[in-house]
Amino acid sequence: MKGRFAPSPTGYIHLGNVWIALLSYISTKQQKGQYVVRMEDIDIQRSKRELGEALLDDLEWLGFEWDEGPRVGGPESTYWQSERQTYYRDILEHLASEKLIYPCFCNRTRLQSIASAPHVGEIIHRYDGHCRHLEDKLIKEFMTSKEPSLRLAVNSCDIDFVDRWQGFQHIHLEGELDDYVLRRGDGMYAYNLAVVLDDIAMGITEVIRGDDLLDTTGQQIYLYKTLQQCLHSKNIKVPSYGHAPLLIDSEGHRLSKRQKSITIRELRDNQWSANRILGELAIAGGLVKANTLHNREISISDLIEIDLNLPSLSQKTIEIQIKE
Ligand code: GLU
Repeated sequence: MKGRFAPSPTGYIHLGNVWIALLSYISTKQQKGQYVVRMEDIDIQRSKRELGEALLDDLEWLGFEWDEGPRVGGPESTYWQSERQTYYRDILEHLASEKLIYPCFCNRTRLQSIASAPHVGEIIHRYDGHCRHLEDKLIKEFMTSKEPSLRLAVNSCDIDFVDRWQGFQHIHLEGELDDYVLRRGDGMYAYNLAVVLDDIAMGITEVIRGDDLLDTTGQQIYLYKTLQQCLHSKNIKVPSYGHAPLLIDSEGHRLSKRQKSITIRELRDNQWSANRILGELAIAGGLVKANTLHNREISISDLIEIDLNLPSLSQKTIEIQIKE
């Protein structure tokens, strides 16, 4: 069994990130699994190496220990996505040779106009298959003036899975409308591609992450299935999923990196101990009762004893109040 925490280093780590790290950590340790930390710094405009290093410092300070990842190494040559681009490129070439992806030359204005068209009951990110059937001659011509994005050619299908906390999920993918981008025109690899390829390469068997990513899971499972067929690999297995409630403040807003007061750095500067931070998260999330803790503190090793099959974790959001 292998679990993971895959943060994007676009700001200092905050309570919302630690909450997810904690759940994946507890679950992995309970199953006597290996824990992987992977830096999702694929978005080179928003991610910064220093923030990644600061994030690792903060995780260490909180008491997390990982078996594979930055600073400790492992079978993969690097655990920073920004350094794994050759691997993503190779797989895309493979998909291209099997005609499973196609170049898309649609510009932003066109994509926005489809996105805002009234498709009844549909989510707004749908495409319309415009470039899926372009003739080779036209592709060659367009290539001379524009670097295309690469889209996965999706076959209509239904995907079902059972999420550990959110229960049974059914997703319908529709060919053309759900053809999604795996590499952008500016060369940036998409989150959906990098996350799946890395979870495969790192042998991840359980994905625990925030509920905001539940909607992407159908697309990701589809990619696993495509890769299983295209690479003829029995070793590519869809992991189990647990989408945990997001932390919100007392006004109902999702905790974000903009709210400085919730970063681990700031709490530490305000004399909070690591165990107090873990304690506040565990209390808010319904993992422990406040009256069972001394000074609202709990250590990471005590948290590993907690049962994670809790009704509170099936909620979409959990409110946390930070009192000085
Ligand atoms: N890097 C993503 C984030 O920080 C998480 C990806 C995942 O867990 O699948 O939101």
